[in-house]
Amino acid sequence: MPSVFIKTYGCQMNERDSEQVASQLVAKGYALAPSEAMADVILLNTCSVRDAAEQKAYGKMQTLAKELRRTRPDVVLGFMGCMAQSRGKELIDRLPDVDLVVGTQKFHRAADYVDDILNGKRNKVVDVEEETGSQATIREHVLGGNGHRAVTAFVSIMQGCNQYCTFCIVPYTRGTERSRTIADIVCECRELVAQGVKEITLLGQIVTSYAKRDLPLQNGKSPFVQLLEAVHNIDGLERIRFTSPHPKGYGDDLVEAYGRLPKLVESAHIPVQSGSNRMLKLMHRGYTRERFLGIIEKLRKVQPGIGITTDIIVGFPGETEEDFEQTVSLVREAEFENAFIFKYSPRKDTPAATMPDQVPQLVKEERNHRLLQFMNELGSRKYNQFIGRHVQILVEGPSKRNAARMSGRTRCNKIVVFDGSERHRGQVMDVKITRVGSFTLYGDPAILE
Ligand code: SF4
Repeated sequence: MPSVFIKTYGCQMNERDSEQVASQLVAKGYALAPSEAMADVILLNTCSVRDAAEQKAYGKMQTLAKELRRTRPDVVLGFMGCMAQSRGKELIDRLPDVDLVVGTQKFHRAADYVDDILNGKRNKVVDVEEETGSQATIREHVLGGNGHRAVTAFVSIMQGCNQYCTFCIVPYTRGTERSRTIADIVCECRELVAQGVKEITLLGQIVTSYAKRDLPLQNGKSPFVQLLEAVHNIDGLERIRFTSPHPKGYGDDLVEAYGRLPKLVESAHIPVQSGSNRMLKLMHRGYTRERFLGIIEKLRKVQPGIGITTDIIVGFPGETEEDFEQTVSLVREAEFENAFIFKYSPRKDTPAATMPDQVPQLVKEERNHRLLQFMNELGSRKYNQFIGRHVQILVEGPSKRNAARMSGRTRCNKIVVFDGSERHRGQVMDVKITRVGSFTLYGDPAILE
């Protein structure tokens, strides 16, 4: 039985795409190898969001080709995902040991291509064409590795993005917005719940734009809110999350859904990117700082305990010290639970890459450091408020840092580690928070009256 190892770079969408490829290979009789050392097929699912991510995957493939081609000439080496999409055949021209390049609309074909190459039916394959309907092909799962049942699952609801933020390569690597049908998504969610899944995260590059061009508003509700309602109706499902939304998509219908749909957890990751209106305009984000803060205020009115996190870019072209200070002040006002802070990385063929006034690397690093420090202080203050409180968690499995302990998530998306055992997996339970680590809560199962 041939074995396959898939290494995934980047976001949750990539994780999900890798899972799809793995499930199709498993269905063909392949084994999933725990490491590349023994695998007959090694696939790198790549990310293009930052230059460093591309360099990492490219360097990894170079090393694999050098080490493995000599000792195991039959090993199949492939690139998939965003870098495969944007570079195509160029990857094989530069690294002739690579056998396979599979773009972002072709994940569902990867297993057949691997099979053909292994069986000598084809030599090299490059497939980065667009394919109508490919958004509906990411639907198989590999649940419960290591013999344990899965508690949470990701469900891809759409592909692509039409927002064209000036720094972002996603619309070029993932294509325009294409959504699955509500019926198809609900069917997949039902199957997952039947297999024991308690929490589903709906995935897409810009989920709040889900089916915007395909479905009309219903009683003022956007297609995305209609989808949330349909998934909410599934018996046995405990929790719904989604990522990534766009601030523009937080209309009153979505804000109101947080108060109306109990399975929609009190958590929102809303990428703001900058606190300066000048920068937001240059980034082509489509909202102002005031509009963003207004959304946060409305969400906290509906769900006072909601955990709000964000993404921020520092050092976007033209960002002055004053623009940066506005980002710091927005972080203070918004009181985020956490922020993922990125130094601007120019991406080939995006408008921002050739904008004037590119910010020197040292300045980006200094701003990144300053904002990170501020965010850590803010986060630590917020997390400390949990000490002594009882919170509800869904237990997902052993803690990643210490497998002897169990780990779960609060509804507001905070990780809680506690002394538990396998029997707790999949349980929704109360714990009392006793101490706080770096963006982690520690608790004891609570014995409530
Ligand atoms: S909305 Fe998100 S995925 Fe779409 S272009 Fe902007 S940053 Fe990229």
